[in-house]
Amino acid sequence: MRTTENSGTYYDMGFKLGSQLKNVFNPPPCHPEKLKLSFQCREIVKKYTPDLLEEIKGFCDGGNFDLEMIEAFLLVLGYELFYPPGGGCTVIALGSELTESGCPLFARNYDFNIEFQAYCEMTLRAPLGKLRSISFSDHMIGTYGGINESGLVIAILLASDYDNKWQPGIRVNLSARWVLDNCHDTEEAVVFLEKIPHVRGQIFMIMDKKDNIARVETSPLEVAVTYAKKDYLFSTNHYQAEALMKYSNPVLISPNSVERFNKVKTFLDNRKTNLTLNDMMEFLSSHKEGVCNHFEFDGIKAATIYSWIAEIPEKGGPIQTWATIGSPCKGKYKLYTY
Ligand SMILES: [Zn+2]
Repeated sequence: MRTTENSGTYYDMGFKLGSQLKNVFNPPPCHPEKLKLSFQCREIVKKYTPDLLEEIKGFCDGGNFDLEMIEAFLLVLGYELFYPPGGGCTVIALGSELTESGCPLFARNYDFNIEFQAYCEMTLRAPLGKLRSISFSDHMIGTYGGINESGLVIAILLASDYDNKWQPGIRVNLSARWVLDNCHDTEEAVVFLEKIPHVRGQIFMIMDKKDNIARVETSPLEVAVTYAKKDYLFSTNHYQAEALMKYSNPVLISPNSVERFNKVKTFLDNRKTNLTLNDMMEFLSSHKEGVCNHFEFDGIKAATIYSWIAEIPEKGGPIQTWATIGSPCKGKYKLYTY
């Protein structure tokens, strides 16, 4: 996984990225229905996360890209996939009462098509006047989660059982990016995620240094929030909130989402105290007891393609995360600091 740094105004950060990808990146073709949805999403993105449109504009100017095509790529990414291949991730948020260090711990495996491993990047980002962060993605501007200088951690997961009707709204990678850039704690992040329209079903796991954990389960029509204080919450790739069951089609649940869910539950039922970074690294890396994931879906090879853990000290300090490049079963976690 590459590590990149970016800082400055949103336009400048976009311009720099665009210049780097000039003549390298080609946005995929976009059919009229997708373009129409992109235009509708644009108005909502403009209202709630306007800085990100500035960054997209900078990206297009820096790389001489067509603005409509890049907006369609980022604002409705994945629209043509009825079922994202290999979609499946695991996130566990442990409050201070469960950890040996007394610091909240956040553990995340990102599972997807292994061809996308080549595009995965860790970004150290410092938007002018906003919060610095370390985050992870396989495409420009949007993110799948990370940790910011305020000690707020967020990670996103596909709600694979969502019935898959897209609506105009803000795509999950952009809303996660906005949270990292702007929100100081779980409360602020939840207020934002409850306020914005979402394009489809997704799950956000959030934790802060004050030991507040939230699982925010979203759909275009309804959002359900579950809180824990000092305790724990976790998620795989299906809804848990009763309120969202009306949007859930169990037939669509991704392969082994339930199996990973049960593994996490068993692990936490057996080990509710004194959990360490090492314990979580072992659990994320293990196949038998844990959730390191390798499988095929429709002939496409998928796996846990990166993994990260953040410990959140109350007193602050540099932004830190332990991460593996590639499957955690194949490599050691390395500490990254920003
Ligand atoms: Zn593995």
